[in-house]
This record gives sequence, structure tokens and C-alpha cells, in this order.
Amino acid sequence: MPEITPPTERARVVREPHRGAYDRETIDKILDEGYVCHVGFAVDGQPYVIPTLYARVGDGIYFHGSAASRMLRNISSGISVCITVTLTDGFVLARSVFNHSMNYRSVVALGKATLVDAPEEKLEAMRAFTEKIIPGRWNEARQPNEKEIKATSILHLPLTEVSAKIRVGPPEDDAPDYAWPVWAGVIPLSHSPGAPIRDERCDPSIPTPAYAAQYKR
Ligand SMILES: Cc1cc2nc3c(=O)[nH]c(=O)nc-3n(C[C@H](O)[C@H](O)[C@H](O)COP(=O)(O)OP(=O)(O)OC[C@H]3O[C@@H](n4cnc5c(N)ncnc54)[C@H](O)[C@@H]3O)c2cc1C
Repeated sequence: MPEITPPTERARVVREPHRGAYDRETIDKILDEGYVCHVGFAVDGQPYVIPTLYARVGDGIYFHGSAASRMLRNISSGISVCITVTLTDGFVLARSVFNHSMNYRSVVALGKATLVDAPEEKLEAMRAFTEKIIPGRWNEARQPNEKEIKATSILHLPLTEVSAKIRVGPPEDDAPDYAWPVWAGVIPLSHSPGAPIRDERCDPSIPTPAYAAQYKR
């Protein structure tokens, strides 16, 4: 297991440093609540930022390979990536347009991602993707077969160079603007799942499982 080191200079939150956090408890909470990350990497000087599913398992993040896996086929030492996870908690409406903002929790993880080769580790990562979104689903759905495991590229990034940044609370206006006669405050944002929609080819005698009927995030 890699050791968690204090943030390096490039991982230190410079702008609004009071919003930065580096402890694993804070970072893991954000990573475990999110499920989509954006993976940034450069190919021949061209940056790409690709959205994909991920799951934290212990001291690392597993994510689906997509474009990066093509790059990695012949690079055993890994590829430099920047993985970002963003949770949006609210729109912050200040009195001035300039001070409008968002409440958020985000994580930026830097380092080298490597392709996962071992089928057991790939399977564990797939299980983690599924279970973190819908606990209980993995055991009910058909498990991936050898061909499917082979066809899935999974990458692993150790959580060694990570930062979190968090904004909470009301708008912060410049002192003279507090007299401006306009509504100010926060519009909270949350995920609210809708009622499950049964696939028309799903046998009607199969009851909707509780994890779908009462899905909560
Ligand atoms: C939903 C959302 C909306 C935002 N809107 C704005 C906006 O409109 N304008 C604006 O200026 N900023 C916004 N931010 C903040 C933005 O992400 C950057 O933190 C900020 O712009 C400073 O960038 P920088 O490269 O100068 O940071 P620096 O502080 O110089 O970055 C240094 C290091 O700090 C870490 N870091 C920086 N930002 C983050 C982060 N968000 N989360 C975790 N680690 C981080 C990274 O490791 C980075 O390498 C927003 C953030 C979120 C999540």
C-alpha cells in the first residue's frame, strides 16, 4: 500500500488556500460520494479530459480506461494523469455578479496511472464500480465472463498526491454591496433519483428490487 505523503508543492491549493484540505478522511468522503471523474492526460502535447466512472478502493482509484488505455498498452511505467471529482452543492447568489459562486467539494489527484492486468484485480474494480453506485446489484446481475473482463481496460491511480477544495456557506460580498437591494443567498443542489423505469423486456413477474425502488444518493 502506498504511503500518503503530505501534499507536494504542485498539489497545494494556492488560490483561496483556506478551502484546501489534504487529510484522507475529507478526501475519501468526497471520492466515495462521487461516481464520475474527469481524467486529464496529454497525448503529443494535446490535453484530453475524459469523463468516466471510478471507484476508490483503499489507497487508490480505479477508473475505466477509455482513450487512456490505448496509450498505455506499451507504456509499462504508466501515464501521467490528473483526476478530478466534483460535487456541486449549491449556487451562491451574491449581491454583485462578480461575487456569485458555487458551493462545492472537489478532489484533484495527480500521478501515474497504470493498467490493471490481473483478472482478479479487474474483477474487484468492476465490483467496486457497481457496488458503490447500487449496493446489492453485483450479486444479482450476471458476473462478467473472461471475455468481458479481457475487453475492459481498467486503470489504477495511487492516492499519493491529492488535494480537496471545499466551499461552503453564504455569499461573500464586498462591504458596500450588502446595501444593494437584491435577494442574496444559496440555492442548494442535490441529486434526486426518479421512479425506476422498467425495461419493456424485463419479465413483469420480477419485482422491482428495493435498491431501485428506494434508490437514494
Ligand atoms: C464546481 C466548481 C466551480 C468553480 N468555479 C470557479 C470559478 O468560476 N472561478 C474560479 O476562479 N474558480 C472556480 N472554482 C475553483 C477552481 O476549481 C480552482 O480551484 C480555481 O480556479 C483556482 O485554480 P488554480 O489553478 O489557480 O489553483 P491553484 O490553487 O493554483 O492550484 C494549485 C493546486 O491546488 C489543487 N486544486 C486547485 N483547485 C482545486 C479544486 N477545485 N479541488 C481540489 N484541488 C484543487 C490542485 O492540486 C492544483 O494543482 C470552482 C470549483 C468548482 C469545484
